[in-house]
Amino acid sequence: SVTTRFAPSPTGYLHIGGARTALFCWLYARRHGGRFVLRVEDTDRERSTPEAINAILEGMSWLGIDYDEGPLYQTERFDRYRAMLNRMLEEGTAYHCYCSKERLDNLRADQQARKVKPRYDGRCRCLTERPADAVGDPVVRFRQPHEGHTVVDDQVKGRVVFDNAELDDLIIARSDGSPTYNFVVVVDDMDMGISHVIRGDDHLNNSARQVNILKALGAEPPVYAHVPMILDAEGKKLSKRTGAAGVMEYRDAGYLPEAVINYLVRLGWAHGDQEVFTLDELIEYFDIADINHSASSLNPSKLDWLNQHYMKALPPAHVARHLAWHLGALGIDPGAAGAPSIEAVVSAQAERSKTLVEMAKNSRFFYQAPEDFDEKAAQKHLLNAAEVLDALSRALAAVEVWQADAVHQAVVGVAEEHDLKMGKVAQPLRVAVSGGPVSPPIDITLELLGRESVLHRLDTASE
Ligand code: GLU
Repeated sequence: SVTTRFAPSPTGYLHIGGARTALFCWLYARRHGGRFVLRVEDTDRERSTPEAINAILEGMSWLGIDYDEGPLYQTERFDRYRAMLNRMLEEGTAYHCYCSKERLDNLRADQQARKVKPRYDGRCRCLTERPADAVGDPVVRFRQPHEGHTVVDDQVKGRVVFDNAELDDLIIARSDGSPTYNFVVVVDDMDMGISHVIRGDDHLNNSARQVNILKALGAEPPVYAHVPMILDAEGKKLSKRTGAAGVMEYRDAGYLPEAVINYLVRLGWAHGDQEVFTLDELIEYFDIADINHSASSLNPSKLDWLNQHYMKALPPAHVARHLAWHLGALGIDPGAAGAPSIEAVVSAQAERSKTLVEMAKNSRFFYQAPEDFDEKAAQKHLLNAAEVLDALSRALAAVEVWQADAVHQAVVGVAEEHDLKMGKVAQPLRVAVSGGPVSPPIDITLELLGRESVLHRLDTASE
């Protein structure tokens, strides 16, 4: 059975590379009816913060990536790691190393001078007891087999062969007893029954070490899939400076989680030339074999395009929940008495906004009377329009049932009565009620605003 895990180190926000890894692991587990575990790799106590943990949980929950187990914290598993260290020491697959820092420094300097790969020389490998001249507590090293090869049949990178003679006797516990990174990963992957490790390819070299420790513990190594990284739009390494690297920045910039999921999955995975996927389709189609072999670059215009697609394609009630958040961020209370249904606002606006931020800004006038008019639009359409606005006020006041079609008839009536083209009437009306020259169709706009605020705004505009 399939069990995957996402194992972030909580040292910052959830960046999109991590989110994509989480998504791949999640899709793979869901596709195979397996389990997906969230494991927080927080053993680096200096760099791990509660804020970062929250940011990761928040990012996952915003994206809708749920987990079957977790979050599990490595810092809560030290007893288990200690027990496994003792077991390895007893079984001889690990040993105490008493070499001083000074000796190791000299060793490294010497190896560097001889241009050989710096590597522990194994002086303590065969010790049976503590040397008389030893100072302080020993570290624990893994007794790495030095003959033969370690093969990682990576599902993305292909078969990678490591020469065991090149692999170091890795320190698996520091002299204060704290276990090191590669060791805790191995114990966790084993205990959690991880069948597939999908992670960034910066961990490819670790996989040889981890496979060997797993074997020493008598465990079957998981299947590995090392995923190439995501580059920025210029093909350079992602960094905070190159813009939206954190998942929540995408929310703040007005993207729907559905669009970000679709975007992320396509950064590094393909299914023919299909661009738009429902979640069910992703779960049905996702396969490690179709992960790209080379790095992918961010493509902001693709994300805009996907976002627009989802704003139109998703049920308005769903988009409305996200628009409400963005209106709130602008200081607007979309639930205020007399405010139009936010769902109806989404239906009216979906065609003409790229992002929810844009939609929220363009929808402000539905909730708040314009404070001032767009200067150019006002000059063009409001100057000398007093007579038309006045006629509109009267016609609209007389509409029996305040609905788009009746409103439309009233506006047409005013145009005919004044022998004007529809635009010459609708545009002053639009500027008067919305403050600017762009809005959804005028009859829908007026219906949503409600009669009272329309008449009030017409009054204000003709002053
Ligand atoms: N904690 C590691 C990281 O954040 C991931 C390790 C793994 O997936 O094995 O890069």
